[in-house]
Amino acid sequence: MRKYENDKLIKIICNKCGRKMSVDMDIVKEGVCTVEKDWGYFSGKDGEHHQFDLCEECYDAWIKSFVIPAEIRENTELI
Ligand SMILES: [Zn+2]
Repeated sequence: MRKYENDKLIKIICNKCGRKMSVDMDIVKEGVCTVEKDWGYFSGKDGEHHQFDLCEECYDAWIKSFVIPAEIRENTELI
């Protein structure tokens, strides 16, 4: 969950555990997984936009629950 004030990011809270993540001067200072999904016609959520943020620990716990592991590769260029 993100909070903005005057178009500046002031707060990110992990949607799963509720922990406030570190934000300084509009920049997130730790790993965060942001998921945004526009559900389409063949779903039961047609027309809905979902968005949530997870801290790195909750992300790790989430992907460990997958039957098929997430695909992970090294980026050759860092953002
Ligand atoms: Zn969390």
